[in-house]
Formats: sequence, structure tokens, C-alpha cells
Amino acid sequence: MAAASQTKTYRMWIDGKWVEALSGATRDLFDPGSGELIARVPEGSQKDMSLAVDAARQAFDQGAWRKVSALDRGKLLFKVANAIRNESQFLAELEVRNCGKPLAEAEFDVADAANCFEFYAGLATKIHGQTLSVPANSVSYVVREPVGVCGQIIPWNYPLMMAAWKLAPALAAGNVCVLKPSELTPLTALELARIIEAVGIPPGVVNIVTGPGVGAGDELASSPKVDKIAFTGGTATGRKIMLGATSNLKKISLELGGKNPNIVFADADFEAAVDGALFGAFANQGEVCSAGSRLLVEKSIHSALIAAILKKIPRIKLGHGLTPGVKMGPLISSDHRQKVENYIKIGIKEGATLLCGGQRPSGAEFEAGNFLEPTIFDHVSPQMRIAREEIFGPVLSVIPFETEEQAIQIANDTEYGLAAGVWTKNVNRGLRVMNQIRAGIVWLNTYHPTFNEMPWGGYKQSGIGRELGLYGIEGYLEIKQININLDETPIGWY
Ligand code: NAD
Repeated sequence: MAAASQTKTYRMWIDGKWVEALSGATRDLFDPGSGELIARVPEGSQKDMSLAVDAARQAFDQGAWRKVSALDRGKLLFKVANAIRNESQFLAELEVRNCGKPLAEAEFDVADAANCFEFYAGLATKIHGQTLSVPANSVSYVVREPVGVCGQIIPWNYPLMMAAWKLAPALAAGNVCVLKPSELTPLTALELARIIEAVGIPPGVVNIVTGPGVGAGDELASSPKVDKIAFTGGTATGRKIMLGATSNLKKISLELGGKNPNIVFADADFEAAVDGALFGAFANQGEVCSAGSRLLVEKSIHSALIAAILKKIPRIKLGHGLTPGVKMGPLISSDHRQKVENYIKIGIKEGATLLCGGQRPSGAEFEAGNFLEPTIFDHVSPQMRIAREEIFGPVLSVIPFETEEQAIQIANDTEYGLAAGVWTKNVNRGLRVMNQIRAGIVWLNTYHPTFNEMPWGGYKQSGIGRELGLYGIEGYLEIKQININLDETPIGWY
């Protein structure tokens, strides 16, 4: 592991100024892998959020950003992308210290965040309306305009990447933003604010308020001065956000949880499916909305696949995310580990077969962190809670199936609909199954890759709307009809 970092005291970024919470309250943040104090951040409240919303409102209404040409907005966003790249090692290591993930995964996230800013920087100049042929003697056309003040609330599992997914399209479209990172992982978002200041994005256009969900977050969701709320987090919180948004019927987009099926047919490439099952379930410690946490396996290969998976489990090296070779870091907090451990107890009680894990790893290097072994349950029935509820940790539930129809039925038997994987060499079967899966992202013979060019989001209770790609910017644009009468004769109706 790299040398210990110095504890840094951060401030929030509101109206172009670095500020403490009005109350003076702060929160200490600890490295989830070592327990070391890494930073102190302001604990913003409803009052701080209210100030940030006022600043954003003013910035939008006075045109601080929407009147900047699309070309210049794009140029500034390109600069943000470059600055992220220039600081990628620092940002990746900070991400590891704050949220625990292995360094290689954090490096990927930082690169993705830069790519996201670059994608939307290029898109800023491609937002366009439409001219339509209409029956009357008039010119009618459609213009797209920014929605206004966008409130953005993000979770702790991909802190910088989620900040980029939210800010980049909103800013490209000419909106102003108030972003609330998770109270557990605000550090890279605050560093991003520093970058945003340095490249010259005007004051008040981006505001980053640190603080808890209740207080800072719900104020943002319910404020009548906010035009849109974009939320990524748990489904239960999403419901509350939706209720808050009714105050002024603000536009809303939600990226929520998942209980995603990863379906392996007997005719799949066996080794690829083994890797895909493990990566789908255990990347980012399983703290992934799209984790393939339900492994549906065709009965004829069930025993062989389980044996091959178990053989590879020892390769998932646990440890601090900065330790070379580590493949699985600690969970985000001891509370969260307890929640995951509780699900392990539930799985045992429900009668599932615990194949591996279920324990905290032993050894001095694990004592101060929130580590948990990768855990696999076999013979899980679709009715068990471990097959239905999002655990959000390194716990895989294996569910055997006999026929294609049964696999589809089990896959869709969930309140969620975020992602799914299908493993087969039979292209007809692959397409048949993918067509019938009710989810926003479906992978064939792979798991997890996604691109800034492609839409991200869920069916059913996994969300409302889509992020990323051309779809992602739509949610940050209003559509205005413009109608010009070319006939000067009075209409003479009365
Ligand atoms: P969470 O819902 O507890 O918190 C998410 C954010 O909402 C945090 O910033 C939190 O402070 C804030 N918040 C909490 N209560 C609030 C309230 N009443 N009003 C306003 N804001 C509030 O989620 P989490 O534990 O941080 O993240 C894990 C969840 O996020 C999982 O369910 C996961 O599936 C989901 N997630 C979804 C996606 C996706 O793209 N669909 C991506 C990542 C994470």
C-alpha cells in the first residue's frame, strides 16, 4: 500500500466560493480499507443547500451559462476532460481512499469521467431543433433549450464517474447545476469543482454541496426553485425524491437499484461464462447497481460451472485498493458490511447452500477495514429474499433452470429491470432471450461494459429516463414550439 495520505480539510463550492457549512459542522471521512482519517468535509444542511440553489437560480436566470455559446461551452468542457486526464493518478488514488475500490477500477472510472466530459463537450454544438412543414401559411420550428437549474444527487459507489455522468450533459445543454455527492464519498466531486473553477466555468454554474440526504438532499429535491432533479441511488430513496419533486412538478430522472440476472446456457463458451459470472458479481465488491447478482445456470452444466467458479475464487485477492494485485477492496462502511452480512444470515436461514465466503477475512491487514469475503449461495430459489432484494455487496445467488422459457421467466420475475447478461454461442437463442428480457441494458457473452455513447437506465423500478449518449442530453433539454404567421390578414374570427 502507498504511504498514508495527509488529512485534508475541504470546503464546499457554492456560488464560485469555497465555503464551510453555515453551522460550522464537519464530517470526518475514513479510508474504508485502513480506517485511517483521510479528510474532513463540511456537513452542509438545508440552509447551505438553499444558498446553493439561490446561486444557481441567479446564474441561470442571468444567463451566466446559457448565453455562453455552445462552442465555448464545449471548449470549457473539453478543458475539464483534459484536466481530469492530467490528474488521473491523483484522482484515482483519492477515489480508492474514499470508497475502497481497487486502483485498476478507479483508474477506469477516472478515464470514463474524462471521456464523458469529452463526449458531451463535442455534443454541445450538435444540439439542434427541427423545422416542420405545417398546413397553415406559417413557419413552424422546434428549438431545444436548457431546462434550468438542475439538482443532481449521486451515490457512493462511483463518485467521480457519477458526477461526470450528471454534470457533463447538463452543462453541455446550457443548464446550471447543484450537485450533492454522497456524504460518504464527496472528495473527487470536490476536486472536480476545483478543476471546474480552474478552467473558467463561471461562478454559480456548478455548485457542489456536501451533506447528508436528509437535510441537504431532500431540500434539493423539493425546492421549488429547482427545475429538474436527476438522482442516482437506491429505489427507496428514489421514491422520496419523486415525492419531493411534486412541490413544483419538476422534471425528474431516476437511476435506481437492480437485481440483475446473468443467464448461462449449456451451449455457452464455458471459460468465458465462468469469468463473466465472477466479474459480473464481484467487480467493485458487488457494490454495483448492474451487478449480475443472480446467476441463472442451465442444470446440465450447473455442477461443472460451480466447480470452475469456486476454483477461481482464490484469485480474487482481497485487500486495500492501493495494494498491488488486489481485486476486491473493502465495503464502503461497517454499517453497510453489516447489512450485507445480515443478508448472508438470511440466505442461510432460507435454506440456500453457502458455497464459499460469508466471513470477514482473517489477518492483521484486514482488521481495520470493512472487508468481506466473496460469497456464493447455491440452490437459491427465486422466492428467497437473497434472490429478490438488492444486497449491494459481494454475494452471488445461483439459481438453476431447465429450459429457455424458465430462464426468461425467472430473469423477469423481479421488481427491477436495470441489466441482464446472456451467455450462449447460439445467436438465435441469444437474440430471442435478449428480446424478452425487461431491462434497460442487456449483454450477450459479456458483462458490465458500457460506453458514454450508449443509453444507461432501467425498466420497472430501476428508474425513469436514461443517462448518457444522445438520450442522456434529452433529459436536460426543454422543447419549444415556435410559430410564425406569414399571412398578415387579420383572422376575422369575431
Ligand atoms: P442512497 O439512495 O442511500 O443515497 C444516494 C444519494 O441520495 C446520496 O447522496 C444520499 O445522501 C442521498 N439521499 C439519501 N436520502 C435522501 C433523501 N431523503 N432525499 C434526498 N437525497 C437523499 O444510495 P447509496 O447507498 O448511496 O447507493 C447505492 C444505491 O444506488 C443502490 O441501490 C444502487 O443500485 C444505486 N445505484 C444505481 C445506479 C444506476 O445507474 N441505476 C448507479 C449507482 C448506484
